[in-house]
Amino acid sequence: PLDMKDFVPLYASFESFYTRNIYNRIQDVFNRPICSVPGATIDIAERRFSQSGWKYEYTGKVHKDVVNLGSYNYLGFAEKTGACAEAAIDAVKKYGVGICSSRQEIGNLDIHVKLEDTMAKYLDVDACMTFGMGFATNSMNIPCLVSKGCLIISDELNHASLVLGCRLSGASIQVFKHNDMDDLEKKLRNAVVYGQPRTHRPWKKILIIVEGVYSMEGSIVNLPGVLALKKKYKAYVFLDEAHSIGALGETGRGVTEYFGIHPKEIDIMMGTFTKSFGAAGGYIAGSKDLVEHIRGFSHSACYATSMSPAVCAQILTSLNIISSTEEGKKRIERLASNSRMFRQGLKKMGAIVYGNDDSPVVPVMIYLPAKLGAFSREMLERGFAVVVVGFPATPLVESRVRFCISAALSKKQLEDALQAISEIGDVLKIKYSSTKVD
Ligand code: PMP
Repeated sequence: PLDMKDFVPLYASFESFYTRNIYNRIQDVFNRPICSVPGATIDIAERRFSQSGWKYEYTGKVHKDVVNLGSYNYLGFAEKTGACAEAAIDAVKKYGVGICSSRQEIGNLDIHVKLEDTMAKYLDVDACMTFGMGFATNSMNIPCLVSKGCLIISDELNHASLVLGCRLSGASIQVFKHNDMDDLEKKLRNAVVYGQPRTHRPWKKILIIVEGVYSMEGSIVNLPGVLALKKKYKAYVFLDEAHSIGALGETGRGVTEYFGIHPKEIDIMMGTFTKSFGAAGGYIAGSKDLVEHIRGFSHSACYATSMSPAVCAQILTSLNIISSTEEGKKRIERLASNSRMFRQGLKKMGAIVYGNDDSPVVPVMIYLPAKLGAFSREMLERGFAVVVVGFPATPLVESRVRFCISAALSKKQLEDALQAISEIGDVLKIKYSSTKVD
């Protein structure tokens, strides 16, 4: 008979100290559905578990017009009115909502082709392919670029979708210290076998994978350093611009523009439309050969339904505003000045702020996981929605609140938020340093 000691329950239990902490945090989020556009302000409803009916029910309480400091709505294109919303409505009227087929079957629409041509032109590369989901753009496409016998060298803070793509590919994986060019070079040097009968590199391809802006750290990749090593060691570079496309660079063209590097220097340009464009999905861009290879071999192109036309219309319209209008320029400038002002305010109050001063991702260290729930609840009571992150997304005692700044936020909203953070910071003791900021 089966020894019951071997029996493993199907579901995780949330009984240990740490898992209970995760559980409470997740419950908080699931019990507060948002019932509005994720713009500068949002409405949040409250649900709770009713012991009597043994089910979740709405309490009737709705937090109205809460200032949203958590969505990746960098340029403020998540709007319920305006050009993007109108274009999306028109697209639904013309094409419907769902495509009901993959790109390789009968799901290749003229609006997909238009979006890809426009995006390639915007990035100044030969070609582009779009996908319905940003996460899958990484996890499904890395495996069609590298495989067993290849080596991936990946930044230790790369997003879960990149990590999954690396694992699914079957390639060997080495991880280098975050943004540390010495460590990256060490890994590249170790990829060469020196000696008899000859010095050689036993890998078919070496792929370095980095992000533009790191979403938990707010840091910006050392792109010039990565490219110098790529050339020296004849490797390829995969760059995930999920948080940098639209949000960095004078015209929003991302981390390449920020450093004055032409995108053609990057072998694989990846990004998502979920952030600066207020939409959904992702893209791979680069040479014509790269995109043709992806079209033919990607699981996502073959087996996954293509991007909704309403989403394509939202992206095309926001992209047009970003690339060719005064309004687009203003949004990019407002994002940059909002980010800088907010970071300065936090540093002035003595909070520990991670990341680059130009980054719209602003992590503030809370450290102890037990303080996370209190911080977000107190902020909500004062009319601010925030995202708190802890283990497993961060190391256990490096819990943080991760603010995402938006061009849609006014100076007054940001000043009020700083005031609220300062008050809560006094009670929760998250003001550590007395950094002088000009
Ligand atoms: N790459 C990075 C760096 C991300 O941060 C994310 C999600 N935030 C993704 C990929 C996945 O994109 P999506 O949410 O659009 O599926």
